[in-house]
Amino acid sequence: MQNTDIMVIAIDGHSSCGKSTVAKELAKKLHIAYVDTGAMYRSVTLYALRNGFIKDGQCDVPALENAFDNIKITFDFNAETGTNCTFLNGENVESEIRGLEVSSNVSMISAIPQVRHRLVDWQRQMGKEKSLVMDGRDIGTVVFPDAQIKIFMTASDEVRAQRRYDELKGKGQEASYEEVLFNVRERDRIDSTRAESPLRKADDAVLLDNSNMTREEQFQWILDLIDTKTKK
Ligand code: C5P
Repeated sequence: MQNTDIMVIAIDGHSSCGKSTVAKELAKKLHIAYVDTGAMYRSVTLYALRNGFIKDGQCDVPALENAFDNIKITFDFNAETGTNCTFLNGENVESEIRGLEVSSNVSMISAIPQVRHRLVDWQRQMGKEKSLVMDGRDIGTVVFPDAQIKIFMTASDEVRAQRRYDELKGKGQEASYEEVLFNVRERDRIDSTRAESPLRKADDAVLLDNSNMTREEQFQWILDLIDTKTKK
């Protein structure tokens, strides 16, 4: 059971629908912590790739499990600028974990129950300590089923692929729109059909389809929702 002074805002949804952007804005506005759980799965994937645990799209699960104690993931969220950096064993991997190699393997890694159990434990620990906004795929369903605010975000496949493509281009990373669209759809497919905590909307989550919304409109929509829910 959670401490009632602690507020948890759970934001789940499909790939590349802008969860982390609004989550960071919320954390900044409400002066609470931000946890990007996708970055945690991405960091484990990067570790597995670097250590040769992934071959032909398959992971050597016992090898990864044995190495788990050597994986330390930390964040540096700057509330002033709204930027978040992910560190894998002290190294800033923020840019590398967003590239297509990690993106193409992360859904396979995140379907492994042993990986999920470990990361969910860490995530729950963080929510015991302080108020936070956490984004991912299973936050409202599995990690914090008692979260005060639960939002499920989505947008059309094409809108999401275009946003991710623009983001990668903006960072100077190589990718074609078709590759990105394929990756977005493939991750959703694997994430929604896996046996262990599949991506789905929690029954009590509020749906936000932002296909035709500006960033400002979405943000205001969420602030209004928080207002309504916390006044109840
Ligand atoms: O949020 P992001 O797109 O960075 O997440 C990358 C991948 O990590 C997702 O496609 C999904 O496979 C996995 N993930 C997950 N559970 C979470 C967060 C992310 O399975 N809570």
